[in-house]
Amino acid sequence: METELREGETRRSWFTRRGGKANYLFAAGVVAIVGVASTWTILTALWPPAPAVCLLHFECTQCGHQFVMDGQDRPAHRIDEPWYPDCPKCKEPNTGRMMIVCPACEKYYVWSRSMKRGTRDICPHCGADFLKALEERIKREQKK
Ligand SMILES: [Zn+2]
Ligand SMILES: [Zn+2]
Repeated sequence: METELREGETRRSWFTRRGGKANYLFAAGVVAIVGVASTWTILTALWPPAPAVCLLHFECTQCGHQFVMDGQDRPAHRIDEPWYPDCPKCKEPNTGRMMIVCPACEKYYVWSRSMKRGTRDICPHCGADFLKALEERIKREQKK
């Protein structure tokens, strides 16, 4: 589930000017790759990380206050980076941790990936494993 968008960065270093007539084909290939990669970079930068009205729930690690932010207010940084907004209650900077909805009991809890990568999410309310519960829920809804 890891999203790697580093393609544009690594390819760009290849795009160095070459003297003489040599390597036209090579240069054309590099231009094509760089073109695709930078289009991708531009697209992902312009693409809003969330739909127009997408309310994200957060919990403050400092005071435990839960608040909602519009996904559109997300600062323009890389899409695969977690967003740590400032707490509107205690005003601590970068203490907001994103919450997800448990697919089993529909209660919110802090998404462990926003704290640490590659960890499993277990619902503190009902003990359901996030991915498993999501899979089961998708299966259930498909049956309907
Ligand atoms: Zn707070
Ligand atoms: Zn649950």
